Amino acid sequence: MSYKIKCNDCGETTNGGNIVTLLNKHRHPDWLFKCGKCNVGKGCIKKTLNEQEGTKITVYLVGILKVGGHGNFQPYAFLCAKSCTAEPHAVLFGYYKDLRTKGGKLKHGHGPGGAPMISFASLKRLVDEIS
Ligand SMILES: [Zn+2]
Repeated sequence: MSYKIKCNDCGETTNGGNIVTLLNKHRHPDWLFKCGKCNVGKGCIKKTLNEQEGTKITVYLVGILKVGGHGNFQPYAFLCAKSCTAEPHAVLFGYYKDLRTKGGKLKHGHGPGGAPMISFASLKRLVDEIS
């Protein structure tokens, strides 16, 4: 799968590549997506999520961060917003295993039933409880 980043500044849509390329080459230092055309603008990826009840919700992925990881296993968190220009308010977790250098494939996972999207407020309560 290839991610399409729409720039908030120049309006162009550019190819962010697969999850590995997106994480390593299409971010500003603050983790927000960087436009592949003007290289200065911030951009977003529009994503539709299927909920268990059969309904769909649209979220805007505005950035991405690595969350720990070891070996070929790399968890990550997308920063989610209610529009391309809104501040992020939630995270959407996923992971990948990149086995291409060992003759394998790039495997991209979200866990059974899809990835949960968790608000910053809920995430803060979780971190407060476990720390
Ligand atoms: Zn741009």
